Amino acid sequence: MLIRTIAAGTALTLSCLPALGQTTAELPAEINVNTKVLIEQALEDEVGLKFVEDLTTEIGPRLAGSAQEKRARDWSVAELTELGFDNVRVEPFAIPFWSRLEDEVSITAPVPQEIVATALGGSAETEEGGVEANVIRFADMRALSSANPEAVEGKIVFIDEGMTRTMTGAGYGMAVRKRSQCARVAAEKGALACLIRSVGTQPHRMPHTGIMARDGAEGALAAAAISGPDADQLTRLLERGPVQVRVNIQTDIRPNAPSGNVIAEVAGTDLKDEIVLIGCHLDSWDLGTGALDDAAGCGIVVGAAKLIAELPEPPRRTIRVVLYGAEEVGLFGADAYARRHAETLNKHVLAAESDFGAGPIWQFQTRFGEAALPYGRAIQQILMPLGVVPGNNEASGGPDIGVLRRSGVPVVTPAQNGLDYFDYHHTPDDTFDKIDPEEFRQNVAVYAAFTYIAAQTGWDFRKSEDMPVASQ
Ligand code: ZN
Ligand code: ZN
Repeated sequence: MLIRTIAAGTALTLSCLPALGQTTAELPAEINVNTKVLIEQALEDEVGLKFVEDLTTEIGPRLAGSAQEKRARDWSVAELTELGFDNVRVEPFAIPFWSRLEDEVSITAPVPQEIVATALGGSAETEEGGVEANVIRFADMRALSSANPEAVEGKIVFIDEGMTRTMTGAGYGMAVRKRSQCARVAAEKGALACLIRSVGTQPHRMPHTGIMARDGAEGALAAAAISGPDADQLTRLLERGPVQVRVNIQTDIRPNAPSGNVIAEVAGTDLKDEIVLIGCHLDSWDLGTGALDDAAGCGIVVGAAKLIAELPEPPRRTIRVVLYGAEEVGLFGADAYARRHAETLNKHVLAAESDFGAGPIWQFQTRFGEAALPYGRAIQQILMPLGVVPGNNEASGGPDIGVLRRSGVPVVTPAQNGLDYFDYHHTPDDTFDKIDPEEFRQNVAVYAAFTYIAAQTGWDFRKSEDMPVASQ
């Protein structure tokens, strides 16, 4: 619950107030008015949604390091320049490249049939034509870890762990463990390949891909995700007796492929060296058009920044929009950004990333210095009419923002309702039609509001010492 103890227009100092934990900073009147105007405009916004539609339609899938990802960078530079952003540029870096050439999984005995499957990003190759062996099923990663190697050797491992549907996406962290660990652990025990039940929540024959390991290194073993119904079928067959499966995965792996971060700014005025960073990632998996993951995020931050750029006066601080490259395959863009901008990270006053689809934002989390919490509450109060409730002060900021957070940059997480996000995540079904325009625009409104407030107030979100509550 948000507790506001300062009446509008009343200049009070901390000494008059019950406790720091209950105070809310006062937003200067002009900023308050402008923020409300931005919110109204955002709820009608066309720029952000068009960015998503055009990116997913004209470029489509954008696998990290691929020619399509480069086309997406070129397209974004042209688009952001056309929209009138300042200092539009690409900051290039190189990544290890992986793409699927063949990924086929089939049951060969006792009843031959195809399995709907997709190789996991970073999967090793099988021998040409594939490997064929009996399947050994494990309920979860822990069961494989504690299995006797003699039982696993020479077999194809199948981890059947499901994923819990939650609004926050909390089920993902647990379920994704099998994706990142299966190949390594199975290889240590002498298995020939690894199959996992897709890390996802929908009931269709739709496999979910995703990276196996975050370092971009080739996996220890060939590994694929199979659809939920196929995992059920495999399990039922295994209950009836031995099952033989063939796995054929062939890949294109190269050590050095071009990627890059696309950057665009709304240049600040008297505090222009101070950066408010709002980001997304431009790359996507290859199966769908990456509409929810993460063209939506890019449209949200571009739409929000564009609205602020159109205000009569430019903001005091610089708003930097970062479309990160190569997020999916190991957060390479995030690391490249942090390295390149290491000298100015102390000038990054706030950072956030939209990378959880386009569902409505329901909660606003911060990670501010203790004494800056009244600023967080002021932002939370402005967002409440949008259906956003205050969150805790333990925001992660999003995957690409993690490295900034660890460097001490204050972050926020506008938490989206992700109840259906993992129905589409990393599948061929992640397409533009899954975005609800109204929910998308609510996101633009939230981003426009907090970004503008952060850029215009000059508030210090790092603040950890006692301070008077801002009243002007
Ligand atoms: Zn993403
Ligand atoms: Zn993703």
